Amino acid sequence: MPRIKPLELRNQPKEIIVTINRQWRLKTRPSGLIGPEHFEYVETELADIGAEEVLVRNLCLSFDPTQRGWVNDMESYMPPVGIGEVMRAGTVGQVVESNHAGFEPGDLVQGLGGWQDFFTVPNGVGLSKLPEGISPEQALGVFGTTGLTAYFGLLDLSEPKPGDTVLVSGAAGATGSVVGQIAKIKGARVVGIAGGPEKCAWLTGSLGFDAAIDYKNESVAEGVARHCPDRINVFFDNVGGDILEIGLSHLAMNARVILCGGISGYNETEPQPGPKNIMNLVITRSRMEGFIIVDYLHRIGEFLADMMPWYQQGLVQHKEDVQEGFENIPSTLQRLFSGQNTGKQLLKLADPS
Ligand code: NDP
Repeated sequence: MPRIKPLELRNQPKEIIVTINRQWRLKTRPSGLIGPEHFEYVETELADIGAEEVLVRNLCLSFDPTQRGWVNDMESYMPPVGIGEVMRAGTVGQVVESNHAGFEPGDLVQGLGGWQDFFTVPNGVGLSKLPEGISPEQALGVFGTTGLTAYFGLLDLSEPKPGDTVLVSGAAGATGSVVGQIAKIKGARVVGIAGGPEKCAWLTGSLGFDAAIDYKNESVAEGVARHCPDRINVFFDNVGGDILEIGLSHLAMNARVILCGGISGYNETEPQPGPKNIMNLVITRSRMEGFIIVDYLHRIGEFLADMMPWYQQGLVQHKEDVQEGFENIPSTLQRLFSGQNTGKQLLKLADPS
């Protein structure tokens, strides 16, 4: 039902009355590389909110490789986005109307608001207020699921020790760049794998990685052999495929291999073969383990207690790639798969009022 009372937004250069909600909905399921052609632009009437409902205006959208998996019609850790549904995305927004005691207009909140300007939440389910002093960009990046993924993936699954060699793939991305810096804090020697000389220079020049391998311009196998002379104690893998196989060939005894993601295969049309050298886990008495960060969200307090001081002391830096323009939302997702982003990929829709 259309709104009875138009929504007035006061944080614009001049007050504007909003009656429509712009959306990007899933049109078809991609086979291969995901792109704008798989989404449809729709405008809907903004409805009035009901009892216990909260209306949120999206300010900033998070782009995550896992969104590619969310549009596949297959069982996963979350149900697939349906054809005709608004594309799911992590967002930070601002409450504009609330009939729920826990939220007031002006509150900055995080949730799965999707690719749209506004979304309505019953009973505040899935909404959490931003911790004090954290910007929308940081809440979706270093202090959000990106930081959580790096922190718990590395520390819970591998417990890096001083002197360990830690290899990180996807190292100049949102997660990988934080993983490497946490490993440095724990006293490890850190080698990153990333695409292109600028990204590699950022890792070794600004973030303190001990070495970086440019997988687009040099042999990863030779780079790993050269930069990990004592082999790899911890391999944090974001990429899968050939890079996973090379890492498995250079494991030290009792190594820990953390399967965070496998972005090299996300746009493949056929399931990718597993590594040929999996028996190396047996020979080196190593462990390989996957995880999904949703299982750790309740431990955010533990994470912030470490990450806040690390950030304030300059031990953890982060980079955000912030795109703009509602029309650019679908093409921004593609940036992750061509490596155009350095650090966290975001798109800003509006500033908080
Ligand atoms: P990133 O910011 O790392 O962006 C993706 C990066 O992946 C690109 O910048 C690109 O960097 C690299 N990449 C893309 N295609 C390829 C390819 N074919 N081969 C090698 N590298 C490629 O994204 P996130 O930090 O958000 O995610 C990183 C990984 O972590 C993903 O695999 C994701 O699915 C996973 N993840 C897992 C979570 C979990 O709970 N297990 C939670 C969050 C993320 P380059 O220029 O170096 O190629």
